[in-house]
Amino acid sequence: MDKFIEKIDRICRENKKVAMFVDMDGTIVEYVIYGSEKELTNSKNNFLNANPIDIIIDKLRKINEINNIDLYILTLAKTTRIEEEKKQWLKNNVGFIKEENWIIINKEKNEYNKENRDYIKAKKMEEKSNNYDAFIFLDDDHKILKTAKTKLNEKIHVFHISSALI
Ligand SMILES: [Mg+2]
Repeated sequence: MDKFIEKIDRICRENKKVAMFVDMDGTIVEYVIYGSEKELTNSKNNFLNANPIDIIIDKLRKINEINNIDLYILTLAKTTRIEEEKKQWLKNNVGFIKEENWIIINKEKNEYNKENRDYIKAKKMEEKSNNYDAFIFLDDDHKILKTAKTKLNEKIHVFHISSALI
C-alpha cells in the first residue's frame, strides 16, 4: 500500500472519529511564483485555471473511502473574489469533499490578519475538537504546521506535503 495512505489508515484504526484538514495552495493546487506585479494581477484572474496536483488528489480520494474519516478543506483567501474562485476550483477538481466541509478563511472579511495568519488554522481545527478523537493536517507551510502541532499537541498528526509524495 502507498506509504502515506498507510499512515493515515493506521491513525484511523487507532481512533474512533478522525478529521483530516487539507490546505489548497501548494498542497492540492500548483503554487506558482510570480516575479512582477503585472503577472500577479494576471494570476488573480486565473486561479480557476490553476493546475490540480493530481497525485495528491488521487490519494485523498482513496483516503476519503475510509469510513471513520471526514475530509475538510482548510485554506486562506486574501479577497472575497479569491474565495469565490477557490470554491469554483474545488467544485471542478475535488468534488468528493462536500461543500459544507470547505473552510475558507477570508482576509477581506477580517477572518484573519497578518498577526494571526500562522495560527488561525489551528484555531479553526480546535473549534471542531468535540466532534473528533484525532486530527490530521496536510499543508505545505512548515510554520503553520508547527503552530498547529504546538497548539493541538497529541490530538493532531501533521504532515508536510512532502510526506504525501512518497
Ligand atoms: Mg499552502
